[in-house]
Amino acid sequence: MTQPVDFAARRYPVGALLFALAVFGPAGANAAGGEAAQCWSDAALHHRAGDERIQHNVAAAVIAPPKGQITPRPAAGDAGLGAVRRVELPPGSKKIAITFDLCEQPHEIAGYQGALVDLLREQNVKATFFAGGKWMLSHSERAQQLMSDPLFELGNHSWEHRNLRVTPADVMANEITAPQLAYRAVRADLAAKRCTRPGDDVLADKRAPKEIKLFRFPYGACNPASLNAVAERGLTAIQWDVSAGDPWPKMMAPMMVKAVVAGVRPGSIVIFHANGRGWHTQEALPEIIAKLKAKGFEFVTVSELLAAGKPVVDARCYNAKPGDTDRYDMVGLNLGKRGGKRPATADPFGLDPDAAPANPQTGWKARAEPY
Ligand SMILES: [Zn+2]
Repeated sequence: MTQPVDFAARRYPVGALLFALAVFGPAGANAAGGEAAQCWSDAALHHRAGDERIQHNVAAAVIAPPKGQITPRPAAGDAGLGAVRRVELPPGSKKIAITFDLCEQPHEIAGYQGALVDLLREQNVKATFFAGGKWMLSHSERAQQLMSDPLFELGNHSWEHRNLRVTPADVMANEITAPQLAYRAVRADLAAKRCTRPGDDVLADKRAPKEIKLFRFPYGACNPASLNAVAERGLTAIQWDVSAGDPWPKMMAPMMVKAVVAGVRPGSIVIFHANGRGWHTQEALPEIIAKLKAKGFEFVTVSELLAAGKPVVDARCYNAKPGDTDRYDMVGLNLGKRGGKRPATADPFGLDPDAAPANPQTGWKARAEPY
């Protein structure tokens, strides 16, 4: 149940509208989510048990990418041809950006770890969510909630998480463009609800801008061709300098707290997952936030971080050291061969555990950390 002023104005006579205004207030302060609360009740904004679950091999996982064109525009910031790893800030600034990837692969409907979002709202912590285009359509309501919330911004995390190092040009183009179109469609759905108050800036450029401006490569893997394809479409590629390692089921909360808190410095970009693969993120995040706040760090969105300093750009995409995401090449190649179907094997990522590099922060060998 929502209490939208516009909506009421359309459906109810003036008396009912005045009643609604008297009861709910014309423009009073809202609960968590700011103006988002105009469009959703608290219950609808909050985590629902089961939403975090990943649904494998369901028919609904197959979604046709939206058709259309995007207009190229200059990339944000001065990233050049490369990916931003962190941002060099003026002395004294302790801004950092935490990010959550919402990856969704062809064969699945990924989850939504709403409890993480609830925590960020409770703690008034800003964050950036890199969402798959297919994820935005399979979680349209959640995507609208995130784009409506002044704490959050959305980035493009490809259409269905193909490895852009090894995909043909036409697939690569779709992986980058389709999420831009999916975002537009979801944003148009939000606008059509008319649940934001006149004069609100939910759909203004700084809140839910017309176009997504940031891109994150699936698996954190790129090459010159894919970097170029992203830049040509006016997107800034955003990597990270601190990995929570949370898609690895053995990355337990105490290890994650240690790795993130020790790794963060002013201007850092941290990667987590909120798509059902942040296995222990919910246990770790409260302590991570508390410890980083105690150290004086200020949480901002990636766009705000970029605007606050000079991006540190690398022409190579990697997790901890150059080359370490090349091991995901086989994932992309195998996916292409199988036409996007999930393999019937216990090792869906086809990775040799002994070939996997150790996490530099923990020394542990990750079997698969599918970013
Ligand atoms: Zn991902």
